[in-house]
Amino acid sequence: MSFTLARFTLARSAVRHSRVRSEAAAPAKNNGLLISTPKQKKFTSTAIPTAQNKASEELLVVVGGGAAGVYGAIRAKTLAPNLNVVIIEKGRPLSKVKISGGGRCNVTNGHCVDTMVLAENYPRGHRELKGAFFNTHGPADTMSWFADQGVELKTEDDGRVFPVSNSSSTIIDCLMSELTRLGVSLQTGKAVVTASSTDGGKFLLGVENRTFSCPEYVEADYLLIASGNSKQGYSLASQLGHSIVDPVPSLFTFKIEDPQLRDLSGITFPKVKATLKIENARRNIPQLTQACWNLILDFAPDVHIEDLKSIVTQHKNKFAKHKLSNSYPSEFGLVKRFWIYLLGRQDLHGDTLWASISKNSLISLAHMLKNCNFYVTGKSQYKDEFVTAGGVPLSEVSPSLSPSPFLPFFFTFIGSVILCLAFVKISLNTMESKIQSRLFFAGEVLNVDGITGGFNFQNAWSGGYIAGTSIDGPDEEAVGDVGRPN
Ligand SMILES: Cc1cc2nc3c(=O)[nH]c(=O)nc-3n(C[C@H](O)[C@H](O)[C@H](O)COP(=O)(O)OP(=O)(O)OC[C@H]3O[C@@H](n4cnc5c(N)ncnc54)[C@H](O)[C@@H]3O)c2cc1C
Repeated sequence: MSFTLARFTLARSAVRHSRVRSEAAAPAKNNGLLISTPKQKKFTSTAIPTAQNKASEELLVVVGGGAAGVYGAIRAKTLAPNLNVVIIEKGRPLSKVKISGGGRCNVTNGHCVDTMVLAENYPRGHRELKGAFFNTHGPADTMSWFADQGVELKTEDDGRVFPVSNSSSTIIDCLMSELTRLGVSLQTGKAVVTASSTDGGKFLLGVENRTFSCPEYVEADYLLIASGNSKQGYSLASQLGHSIVDPVPSLFTFKIEDPQLRDLSGITFPKVKATLKIENARRNIPQLTQACWNLILDFAPDVHIEDLKSIVTQHKNKFAKHKLSNSYPSEFGLVKRFWIYLLGRQDLHGDTLWASISKNSLISLAHMLKNCNFYVTGKSQYKDEFVTAGGVPLSEVSPSLSPSPFLPFFFTFIGSVILCLAFVKISLNTMESKIQSRLFFAGEVLNVDGITGGFNFQNAWSGGYIAGTSIDGPDEEAVGDVGRPN
């Protein structure tokens, strides 16, 4: 098996799931939720209605307090202040934001201005995400949004965007304080386990609490499922009539027993060809756990081995008096820490001068750059992978046709509807289910996966934003004089 990665990242095999600093936006009060036990059949409000939610009985429930759910809730509440918005999160909110990017949170990617180019970074979704999806809220919009909230961001050479603080807590604190400011209720430690639609076009949700065995029932006017790669989320989508593309790990880590790699965590490579050789694998073994995996990395996939040898030799001649650790060919985009690691694997000391390197050592170095071997002892287990492909198919979301500007021209002069359809763009533009109205999806629950570099969070921000924009909320004339911002 051989595949080329646009970017290859070294990650720690074991990621510690640290506590989220600010856990809930608002106290976990029952902000307008209508709840009953199954036997009661009659709904009672256990909340003390605030002045705001007295005006409106409409409720948006967001399943999942990850990037997509929180961003979607913020957008919906910003546009419809009279809508009751409740996020139900079974674990800790924004827990993946916390651990992402080695704890720095790679918020988005700043190198893809053209949305067509941006969409190419999504193996699943590239066709549907170009057009309206990223035009409505792309990386530049995400960066502006965080900047407007006072979060300073920086774009690194490879396009990855991080908070200047180099801490994901900055992003979490920003999102949590927006939830609080807007009055979004965040209920943690509760999982939405069942969902059905009612005759009145609402959603009846079964919510399980850690402490109570009996589920509570909530009736929602709008439902945003932003449950990431959780099986429960897929189940909710199925219960509401959606099909599920089988989830498979898309971006995951290999376990490699090399203590020195631990210190190299977070290094990325501009272009690497990775070949995974699987030895001792027998056919018909569903899981390759019994096989030996040999990962071979080529850090110069576009350079022939002979050219590589001459690049290294020329470097030696030019920088003969320099130490190996301080001077190395820049052509391969390697960082110093990794270069020193490669030297170590060749038993070469960083203080050695280039002049004293033998011809054999130069050849070995060139081969190491072309065929760097790692013995893989396993892969991260389900739940620990970075990104999952599969989930709700994009074909079941959003009326994904938007008219082309050429439409009137073709109607007038050619009159062919078929030709017009050929120029209609296909793109996600509301995130609403085609099967259930008022049901929305955003983030990883959809069959979208991005390569590393901030593309997965961008999918979550864009999807959440579009869903939040598309959720109408109560008619403002009926509930007061709060205008919808543009
Ligand atoms: C270690 C790691 C590092 C990563 N680094 C990056 C990075 O640097 N850049 C990048 O772009 N992407 C990164 N990713 C991927 C990125 O984190 C995800 O693509 C992104 O978090 C998806 O957002 P989401 O809101 O769709 O899902 P999630 O962030 O997974 O949020 C879903 C939430 O829903 C909750 N939930 C699920 N089911 C239910 C239910 N039934 N009831 C209540 N709550 C429920 C879950 O507990 C979870 O909190 C990383 C992922 C991992 C694991």
